[in-house]
Amino acid sequence: MAKELIRLRDCTMVFDDDVVLNKINLSIKDNEFLTLLGPSGCGKTTTLRIIGGFVKPTSGDVFFNGVRINDVPPHKRTVNTVFQKYALFPHLDVYENIAFGLRINRHEGRRLSKDEIHSRVMEMLEIVSLKGFEHRDVTSLSGGQQQRVAIARALVNRPKVLLLDEPLGALDLRLRKDMQIELKRIQEATGITFVYVTHDQEEALSMSDTVVVMDGGVIQQIGTPEDIYNEPVNAFVADFIGESNIVDGIMIEDGVVEIFGKKFACLDAGFAPNEPVDVVIRPEDVDIVDIKDGMLTGTVTNVTFKGVHYDVIVDFKGFKWLIQTTDYCPVNSRIGIKIDPDGIHVMHKSQYSGMFGDYSSYSAEYEEISDAELEPEETVSEDKLYEA
Ligand code: ATP
Repeated sequence: MAKELIRLRDCTMVFDDDVVLNKINLSIKDNEFLTLLGPSGCGKTTTLRIIGGFVKPTSGDVFFNGVRINDVPPHKRTVNTVFQKYALFPHLDVYENIAFGLRINRHEGRRLSKDEIHSRVMEMLEIVSLKGFEHRDVTSLSGGQQQRVAIARALVNRPKVLLLDEPLGALDLRLRKDMQIELKRIQEATGITFVYVTHDQEEALSMSDTVVVMDGGVIQQIGTPEDIYNEPVNAFVADFIGESNIVDGIMIEDGVVEIFGKKFACLDAGFAPNEPVDVVIRPEDVDIVDIKDGMLTGTVTNVTFKGVHYDVIVDFKGFKWLIQTTDYCPVNSRIGIKIDPDGIHVMHKSQYSGMFGDYSSYSAEYEEISDAELEPEETVSEDKLYEA
């Protein structure tokens, strides 16, 4: 297990009487790629700025290698930052942009020799895949290449931690995806701890060892990308990460949850008997079957071809689910669905209950069909409950 490098303890930040961070507790390990993920204004950048030393928390402590660093200024922290606007020096070429920090700063108490600077710059060019570009004018580079120069410039001083604030935000989608792979590779090649800020859940899932989901200045969940996707702690996390149907349920007992008045087998346990819960069902975990075999039956209200699969909106008693399937089902058809126990995830009720998970407004082409008066669903038999 890698050792802890940074710890935030009960960090609160108040701006103009607004609590923008509320008792944040966070542990960041050596060599970790950790991502702060959340909607605009949730406090990601403020958390990053506290780590960088650009702002001091109103209360709470910041530790680096176990030493409290609240009062240590940014330039005395072994931390560097890459911003979305990377502001390269336009009058310097690639080589000089990267070498700049090495020339002006002392390193371990001394100036680096010309040879040392050269070997460090060449090493960085190799790491960011820009070998051969050293004498190119930075203004002649593509956005992705410029961003790589900015990363090389931030890494050349060998910081212990690199803070990255939406560094790919200005790039187009294709380039962003390429750079995600590049960044992960660079992080692994250098072994430097990356703390990355984004509001893009796909970016967070694809690069991170650890994802920290934030909302309203509060950490909602910390976990691996798989944990966050498969075991969201509440409706906010379930909705923010990937697509999800979130419905009301009652946890009858360990392994049995009731949805729309019917019992479903699940893998969850540890809830109070008959506890009202939120149930998340991912669109790809629902199988479309014949009506007679369905655990629930509903009406298809919208179908969108997505290339690999169809996005199908199905109305269950007025609540719209999104189902992703490779089977085509025409609009207005009645279908049955089956969900395996591991496709159901049960969560405690929270302040976010009832806010997410209905796909009524999913598509502009969606046409309301007046089926609120659907006939009552057939009762599912016990053997159907467990055969899934
Ligand atoms: P975004 O993705 O939009 O950058 P964020 O999650 O990074 O959002 P922060 O930049 O941390 O959010 O801001 C959190 C809240 O704190 C916002 O409401 C913001 O307006 C407020 N805030 C941040 N810095 C200051 C400041 N210096 N003075 C006053 N309010 C601030």
